[in-house]
Amino acid sequence: MGEVGGFLRIDRAGFVARDPSERVGDYDQYFDLQPEAELKDQGARCMDCGVPFCHNGCPLGNLIPEWNDLVYRGKWKEALEALHLTNNFPEFTGRICPAPCESSCVLAINADPVAIEQIELSIVERGFEEGWITADPPAHESGRKVAVVGSGPAGLAVAQELRRLGHGVAVYERDEGPGGLLRFGVPDAKLPKTVIDRRIALLQEEGIDFHFGTEIGVDISAAELRDQYDAIVVAIGSRVHRDMETPGRENSGINFAMDYLYQRNRAVAKAAGLESRVAENEISASGKKVVVIGGGDTGMDCISNALREGAEDVVVLDVYGELPESGRDELTPWPLPPKRTASTYALDEGGKRKWGTEVTAFEGEDGRLTKVHCRQVEGTSSRNLTPVPGSEQIIEADLALIAIGFTHPEHGGLVEQLGLALDGRGNLKAPVFSSSVDGVFACGDARIGQSLVVTAIAEGRKCARLVNRHLGGEPTAADRDRLAVDSR
Ligand SMILES: Cc1cc2nc3c(=O)[nH]c(=O)nc-3n(C[C@H](O)[C@H](O)[C@H](O)COP(=O)(O)OP(=O)(O)OC[C@H]3O[C@@H](n4cnc5c(N)ncnc54)[C@H](O)[C@@H]3O)c2cc1C
Repeated sequence: MGEVGGFLRIDRAGFVARDPSERVGDYDQYFDLQPEAELKDQGARCMDCGVPFCHNGCPLGNLIPEWNDLVYRGKWKEALEALHLTNNFPEFTGRICPAPCESSCVLAINADPVAIEQIELSIVERGFEEGWITADPPAHESGRKVAVVGSGPAGLAVAQELRRLGHGVAVYERDEGPGGLLRFGVPDAKLPKTVIDRRIALLQEEGIDFHFGTEIGVDISAAELRDQYDAIVVAIGSRVHRDMETPGRENSGINFAMDYLYQRNRAVAKAAGLESRVAENEISASGKKVVVIGGGDTGMDCISNALREGAEDVVVLDVYGELPESGRDELTPWPLPPKRTASTYALDEGGKRKWGTEVTAFEGEDGRLTKVHCRQVEGTSSRNLTPVPGSEQIIEADLALIAIGFTHPEHGGLVEQLGLALDGRGNLKAPVFSSSVDGVFACGDARIGQSLVVTAIAEGRKCARLVNRHLGGEPTAADRDRLAVDSR
């Protein structure tokens, strides 16, 4: 439980961000961890609050007070074991999760929450440094085979869980490398690709086969996959871009953020000597006036890349209104996570955010973007915005990046060939992970819509239990707990 009254004595100390003016010149991780003695102090701030809302805030149900206490007591290896009980990849969540656990920390009601995410990352990085994290192949083989389509965090989590239960697992990925949006959306400054590769090497040692550059539904048909495997898990993400039906959208120089981010991540990987595809039509922010439309994670990652490329000016337009100083508004009281934070790693490096601003038109010359027309809007959500009269403005721009999210998974190819039913939002209909087709399961963004890395891992873990049951595998520890509760 940490130190009695530790939270009264010790202030929060989070990640140590590198100087923004220096880090904008490279693609290295933008922060460092606190030294061990300070981390111990941070663990001491966890206050044995009785009802640890952080458990519930975390989609994985991480045992946060337990490992905070173990870190406080210097028991790092035990902390690692407790952390891995609920999270397959804490090195991903410890770096890029928006930490709903911290928003729901009881200390956050009237003070700074425990630095949970930093403690999580320190535990797992210590585990790698000490050589405590090794491959954990299954003790027996079930003789059943599963194909996982998609190697994002959901696909990786379901693959590892099923392999550890003794099933043969093959992961099919259409991109040239694993990780999904972690590799091709999130920049190295937030999550270095070496972190993904380090974990994939362990998964391969555990016996998972990876097939990169293989699109199911194109290179291998869904029917062939059905013939070869006892079950299929569809973890293809939510990749259909949300577009804008705005006058002037046809001008060149207006691109989807993800097309830009894919290219930037590939270029950075190539410069680091990793194998990577080369872009055919390069989208570059170098020397340009850039307008990013959408102020979520994707928009922020565009800003950070554009600044590193040497953009002349970067503005991000966010339809949400400015946050109050507390960082919370009436729609997101404790213990809910705020929709936006007052600043972000990218905005600390440069760029300007215009709150409550909506694009009304794009203007171009000779078919090339030159200006973005916008106006102020008010409202509590993107669905009930009302324009502020007389607030129209024009921003000079020669590159606009649309970062307003994704609508649903792609419906052609694999999904069509398998004949999977869709829900009302166009996601794969799989209320308890089983799809409308026997032996085919779905998890991650493809099932629930665009979400977070932590949710995707939680999806993969839960889905694995259902697939295991379908395959007649041994009950998992979670199944046994559930049976014990049901039989009471
Ligand atoms: C730019 C950006 C930044 C983000 N930043 C954060 C962040 O900081 N923190 C956070 O928590 N979340 C963040 N997210 C959200 C998070 O990355 C996603 O919610 C998460 O990756 C979803 O995982 P997934 O496995 O369901 O899907 P994805 O990561 O989308 O992976 C799906 C995989 O399936 C593959 N695939 C698709 N179709 C086929 C096929 N037919 N055959 C073979 N392979 C196929 C794709 O190539 C892809 O690799 C961000 C998202 C974006 C776009």
